[in-house]
Amino acid sequence: MKNNSKVLVLAAHPDDIEPQMGGLIAQLIDNGSRVRIAIFTIPNDGCPKDVRVEELFHSTKILNCELIIRNEESGNLKLNQKLITIADKIFNDFKPTHLFFCSKDETHQDHLVINQVGHIVGRKTNCNIFEYSTILPGGFSKEFNPNWFVDITKFYTRKKESIAAYSSQIKKIGKKWLRDIEKRDAYYGSKINVKYAEGFKIIKLIT
Ligand SMILES: [Zn+2]
Repeated sequence: MKNNSKVLVLAAHPDDIEPQMGGLIAQLIDNGSRVRIAIFTIPNDGCPKDVRVEELFHSTKILNCELIIRNEESGNLKLNQKLITIADKIFNDFKPTHLFFCSKDETHQDHLVINQVGHIVGRKTNCNIFEYSTILPGGFSKEFNPNWFVDITKFYTRKKESIAAYSSQIKKIGKKWLRDIEKRDAYYGSKINVKYAEGFKIIKLIT
């Protein structure tokens, strides 16, 4: 990716992005690219919304990326004209060169909606499109088969710091979450003979 890329990342919830592509975001920012993330819902499932928002701000500050928060109904995100109009505006305001969103192999209903939103928003555009890997912990899902790997070894500390910002979720899910993320990143790293990598699925690549 070129140094002056404009990267838009779509996600349903806070903490959906950093475990999947916090390393790539850190690398992109370091290379002088702009990264804007758009979070569509703030869950209210045992942890107050303001805590979730605070953690999100903290994480994006660590990564130094731009942030848009929408307050759609969490757990009940609906694919309809209203949501596409919102997403189109986010896309058209930023005019990204690269668009990332979650995989179609997800198991959470909100994630699946964001996957569809991403494909719709990316229509008729000259934008590179990628899916980031399935979100952990996601339970059993179809195998995510990345076909683009990024060496993030140099940025692993910052990635871990950005995930650590979500202390309420680490408390809720347990430290196993962090270990699983690291194991997956090491596994993707082994695919390209480096310590840690992130894996993505190319949907549309323009050269
Ligand atoms: Zn999520």
